[in-house]
Amino acid sequence: GTMGNDSRILVFVRLRPMAKKEKEAGSRCCVKIVNKRDVYLTEFANENDYLRLKRLRGRHFTFDALFPDSTSQHEVYTTTTAELVEAVLQGRNGSVFCYGATGAGKTYTMLGTVDNPGVMVLAIKDLFTKIRQRSCDGNHVVHLSYLEVYNETVRDLLSPGRPLVLREDKQGIVAAGLTQYRAYSTDEVMALLQRGNQNRTTEPTRVNETSSRSHAILQVMVEYRVKDASMNVINRVGKLSLIDLAGSERALATDQRTLRSLEGANINRSLLALSSCINALVEGKKHIPYRNSKLTQLLKDSLGGACNTVMIANISPSNLSFGETQNTLHWADRAK
Ligand code: ADP
Ligand code: MG
Repeated sequence: GTMGNDSRILVFVRLRPMAKKEKEAGSRCCVKIVNKRDVYLTEFANENDYLRLKRLRGRHFTFDALFPDSTSQHEVYTTTTAELVEAVLQGRNGSVFCYGATGAGKTYTMLGTVDNPGVMVLAIKDLFTKIRQRSCDGNHVVHLSYLEVYNETVRDLLSPGRPLVLREDKQGIVAAGLTQYRAYSTDEVMALLQRGNQNRTTEPTRVNETSSRSHAILQVMVEYRVKDASMNVINRVGKLSLIDLAGSERALATDQRTLRSLEGANINRSLLALSSCINALVEGKKHIPYRNSKLTQLLKDSLGGACNTVMIANISPSNLSFGETQNTLHWADRAK
C-alpha cells in the first residue's frame, strides 16, 4: 500500500516446507498458493478454527508476492530486499521485518544457515558488490550493529553485557554504547551474525532455544561522501534495518481486554507497538506512536516518512497451525 510522504510498505508471504515433526503428527497442508499473489486456507484442524474463520476475515488473501515452499533464499532476497539495498546506497533508509509464529521460518529467512544464508547475509553481500561496482575511490564506509529487544530491554548482540539505554540526540534515538562494527567484506559477516544470534536471550527452561519473545535487529549503516552543486563535500548516511521479530503467537489477542492485559504484562509490547505504528502509517495518520516501545523507538528513522518498509510474513503449511497462520495472514493483510 501507499503511505503519505512518498513511503510505501510491501507485504510478502513465505510458506516453509512441511517439517518432519508435522508430517509425523499426520498433518495436512492447509495453505494453497493459487498464483503469484493469491493464497487460500483450505482446512481447519478443529471446531474453534472453523468458528474463528467465520468470525474473522475469511480465508482468501492477496499480497505483493507469495513465496511457495520451494522458493530459494536468493529469490526471497531479490524480490523483497535488493531494492532497499540500492536505496540505502542513495542515502534512503529502509526496513525489512519477518513476522510470524514461532517455528514459521523467521530466523531461517533472516539469518539462514551457513549453506543457505538468509536476507541479512545476502543483503550485506550485495551491498559490498554494489559498492565495488560504483566507487573506484572507495569512499563508502559500512558499519553493522546487531541488537536485541527482549522484555523491553535492549542488548548488544555483538558485545553482550549490560542493557543499553536509549537516548535522543541530534541524529535521533540511539542506543548508548552500542557496538558499531566496521565491516570490510562479506566473509566475516556470517560468522559474526551467527555468534550474535547465539547471544539472543533464551528461555530459562530451554537454554538452547532462542526465546520466542526476542526481537533481533541488524542495522547496516552506509556512510559516503558526495559533492553538492557548489562542490562542497557532504556526508550522507543510509541505514537498512533487518528485523527478526518475536513470535507473533502471544500477540494474537484480537479483543481490547486481552490486548490491555498483554500490554500490562509487558509481553510483546514492542510487537503490539509495531502493529500500531504500521496501522497508523498505512491509514495515513499524522501521529505515529513510536514512543510506545523500545523496538519502535529504535526504528523511528527507518519506518514511515521517506523510508521503504517490507514485511515478510512467515507461515507453516500444516493444518495444525491453521489458527496461527490465519492470524498471521490477517495481520499482514492489515499492513498493506
Ligand atoms: P522461527 O524463527 O520463526 O521460530 P525458524 O526459522 O527457526 O522459525 O524455522 C523453524 C524450522 O524450520 C528450522 O529448523 C528451520 O531450519 C526450518 N525452516 C524454516 N523455513 C525453512 C525453509 N524455507 N526451508 C527449509 N527449512 C526451513
Ligand atoms: Mg527464530
